[in-house]
Amino acid sequence: MTPFRYEAPLDTPAAVILGAARGAKYLGGGTNLVDLMHETIARPDSTVAVSRLAGEIADADDGGLIIGAGVKNTAIAADRRVRERFPFLAQAILSGASGQIRNMATVGGNIMQRTRCVYFFDGGASCNKRAPGAGCDAIGGLHRNHAILGASTACVATHPSDMCVALAALGATLTVHGPGGARTLPIVGFHRLPGETPHIETLLQPGELITAVRLPKLPFAKNSAYRKVRDRASYAFALLSVAAAMELDGGRIADVRIAFGGVAHRPWRALKAEAALRDGPATEEAFHAAAAAELADARPLRDNGFKVELANRTLIAVLGQLAGAAG
Ligand SMILES: Cc1cc2nc3c(=O)[nH]c(=O)nc-3n(C[C@H](O)[C@H](O)[C@H](O)COP(=O)(O)OP(=O)(O)OC[C@H]3O[C@@H](n4cnc5c(N)ncnc54)[C@H](O)[C@@H]3O)c2cc1C
Repeated sequence: MTPFRYEAPLDTPAAVILGAARGAKYLGGGTNLVDLMHETIARPDSTVAVSRLAGEIADADDGGLIIGAGVKNTAIAADRRVRERFPFLAQAILSGASGQIRNMATVGGNIMQRTRCVYFFDGGASCNKRAPGAGCDAIGGLHRNHAILGASTACVATHPSDMCVALAALGATLTVHGPGGARTLPIVGFHRLPGETPHIETLLQPGELITAVRLPKLPFAKNSAYRKVRDRASYAFALLSVAAAMELDGGRIADVRIAFGGVAHRPWRALKAEAALRDGPATEEAFHAAAAAELADARPLRDNGFKVELANRTLIAVLGQLAGAAG
């Protein structure tokens, strides 16, 4: 590991000043960043510890929730308000990593965690995300777990977070503080598609710090579910996942939210599937049509074509579960 400074600011303004310095990286629980430092994939000059800042979950005036970026993943999943109002968020978090890692991992770090593409983690491999212009060994290599939607010829990596899939379905927003002040960003679109610049992963500007996640009031999110498909039953990243919430009015779908995980460089909000379902019948036929509408754009690689059918079946199963649960 390369030597680095450790800074422990007492508040957000001090953190932003330290975080804006050249070579600085924010440090949450360290469960991702420290791994990358061990592998010398990340070589910050300084780490700015932020896990003790913004550590609370508060009720918002509109009935939503405001989760501080320093809140631990375990605390969100255990929060009664989250479990009752946004069950798929608690399920998504609990499906990820291990109890010990969730005890350390923060909301901000979970959102900003890096891809698990093996070539990104291997300093001897070609990776445009690590070294722009180097090429992408995943395209012709081991890519069974890689993207089927929104990828480019420069990068086929996926975003690894489970939590962010539920946040995308919910339409959560992020509060960020930086040298230029505070701003609000929707989580949908916050993670960029790779295009020609896969090393630029989010809309955060240099030095900007995520300070909170706002969950909007969404009463029908009580009827929500997160389903994750993976190679092992625990302690494994998603091959594919679905987060969905459904509002039923008799046999019709009044509203619906859907996002996929494990299919793209970002949590994939399934707007085409939502549009196909909204104000229509809650039937298996409609679920099939919605899945087909979303997955028509899928462009699998040599070894991950199975993900298209897996996404299709998992979405149909989750929609059927929600239609049954609320019906
Ligand atoms: C063995 C293993 C299995 C795992 N399995 C899963 C899984 O199945 N599902 C899943 O979703 N995750 C999984 N994870 C990943 C885990 O969820 C992340 O490592 C964790 O959420 C990162 O949070 P952290 O606070 O430790 O981040 P850190 O490691 O501290 O930081 C990660 C990144 O976020 C940046 N950062 C941190 N806080 C902020 C902030 N407030 N604002 C801006 N930038 C910030 C850091 O600079 C760094 O780039 C696994 C991890 C391991 C090691």
